[in-house]
This record gives sequence, C-alpha cells and structure tokens, in this order.
Amino acid sequence: MLITFSKVINVLAPASLRQTRSIASLSALSDTYQMLYKTCRDFAEGELKPNAAKYDREHLYPGDAIKKMGELGDTVGCFALSEPGNGSDAGAASTTAKDGGDKWILNGTKCWITNGYESKGTVVFATTDKSLKHKGISAFIVPKPIKGLELGKKEDKLGIRGSSTCSLIFEDCEVPKENILGQPGLGFKIAMMTLDAGRIGIASQALGIAQILGGMGYVSDMPAERHYRDARITEIYEGTSEIQRLVIAGQLIKEYGLN
Ligand SMILES: Cc1cc2nc3c(=O)[nH]c(=O)nc-3n(C[C@H](O)[C@H](O)[C@H](O)COP(=O)(O)OP(=O)(O)OC[C@H]3O[C@@H](n4cnc5c(N)ncnc54)[C@H](O)[C@@H]3O)c2cc1C
Repeated sequence: MLITFSKVINVLAPASLRQTRSIASLSALSDTYQMLYKTCRDFAEGELKPNAAKYDREHLYPGDAIKKMGELGDTVGCFALSEPGNGSDAGAASTTAKDGGDKWILNGTKCWITNGYESKGTVVFATTDKSLKHKGISAFIVPKPIKGLELGKKEDKLGIRGSSTCSLIFEDCEVPKENILGQPGLGFKIAMMTLDAGRIGIASQALGIAQILGGMGYVSDMPAERHYRDARITEIYEGTSEIQRLVIAGQLIKEYGLN
C-alpha cells in the first residue's frame, strides 16, 4: 500500500475530481486517466514485476524503483491512523494533539504504519478534543524525521515484504500550527474518505493476485507462493473484511431503508 500525500489531498478535492467511484470500465476513463493508468501499468511491468520475488525473498524496500516512481510525480508518505488496540475502531484514537499556541504538540503511538521507515512525512490522525469523540479527531501533516518522533522496529511480515511496517511513537512532537489538514475536527472524515478511495485500490490488488494453479502454486520458485502470502493482507488493511461487510450492510440499510 503506497499511500501518498496526493491520495489524502485528493479526498479534499471536489467530488468532480474523484471519479474513482463511478468508474465502471477502462474505456469510461478520460484520456488523462487512461494515460495515468498506462504509465502506472508500464512502470509496474517494467520496473517492479521483474524484481518482485527478490524484494520479497530479501525483505528489501525497492528504494530505486520508488525513486523512479517519485520522478513520475509523487512523494512517498504514510497514513497513520491505526493504534494499538483500536485498528478497526478508528474513532477511538487516543493519540492527542494539544494546542500549543503557534504549534501542535503530538503524543501517542500509531501502529502498523506502511512505509513508516522510508516516508518523508506522514499524515497523522490525533484527537484535539476527546469529549467530541470521533468529531474531535484532526489530521496533521508531520514531516520526517522530526524531533519527538521515534520509529518502532520493522515488522517481519508474512507478505508484502517489500514495504516497511512499523509503529510511530510521538513524544511531545511539535509541528507548526499550519500543518493541520483542513479544519480541526475534520480528521475522521478525511480518514474515512481516504479509505473509501484506498479500498478500491486494495480490492484491485486482491483481484490482481487471484490465480488458478495446482502444485505449481505451492513452490517458492513460482510467484504464486508469494502472491498467496501477499493476498492475506488485503483482508486486513484499510479495514478488515468483517468491517467492510459492516460498512456495506450499513450503506444498503441506509439506501433501501431496511431495519
Ligand atoms: C501489514 C499492515 C500494514 C498496515 N498499514 C497501515 C497503515 O499504513 N496505516 C494505518 O493506519 N494502519 C495500517 N494497518 C492497520 C490495519 O488497518 C489494522 O490492522 C486493521 O484495521 C485491523 O485493526 P487491528 O489490527 O487493531 O485489529 P482489531 O480491530 O483488533 O480486529 C481484530 C479482529 O476483530 C474483528 N473485528 C473488530 N471489530 C469488529 C466488529 N465491529 N465486527 C466484527 N468483527 C470485528 C476484525 O475484523 C479482526 O478480525 C496495517 C496493518 C498491517 C497488518
């Protein structure tokens, strides 16, 4: 999951710019999106696919490839929402951001953060007013490295081993006042809208991994074994399958007035 700042900025953009939800087929995309699709696909085929097994085997972050991807127009960031004990219940965030006059002071721990090691900055969700529960959560842009932010150990994962996953530990980490994203209290909405878009990406990741193989799918000389390990994460991050069912059921009940 390569969450970039542009992904978060995208959810702040007008709905007309967010065509993801209405895309039914490739041909329905505008020329610009088709070009973007082709660029991404060519990059994945030419730069990532040939080395994917090596990244997995050696637990390597594909730094050179990410650098080239960056030259296509983006910076790798990370998205720090989950916390120990409240991954599914994101509204229960216990990381705090205290108003310190001309700055915000962050305290708390975020866990399972993809690209925690390599990212140049992170969007962090922290509560600015606990009494408002999820409506008291705000989003902050935190550059990295920064005083008051420590990284936890790099997790040794079953799959998606070419990306780092770690905790972000904030201890009196000061960020400038203007680093709040949108308005105070808008953080939960920003997080959910980002996930709405991100979950389409995870679904396509899962679909792309799907294969039909016999014994050849069971040996590590073939990529299927890696795909099998990588597939498991698509049932966990950006909302577990159980949470997705709750979200879908909630939407259907709302739409059709079922009770
Ligand atoms: C490799 C990896 C990368 C990740 N990357 C990021 C990242 O970049 N940024 C980020 O913020 N987070 C990230 N995550 C965190 C991920 O989003 C959470 O792990 C996930 O949301 C589940 O939260 P949890 O681990 O706290 O499990 P819990 O919320 O404790 O859930 C445990 C189990 O209970 C089930 N469950 C929980 N609540 C309900 C319910 N109401 N009804 C039915 N079942 C329920 C869940 O489905 C799950 O099976 C990543 C996780 C992994 C493993």
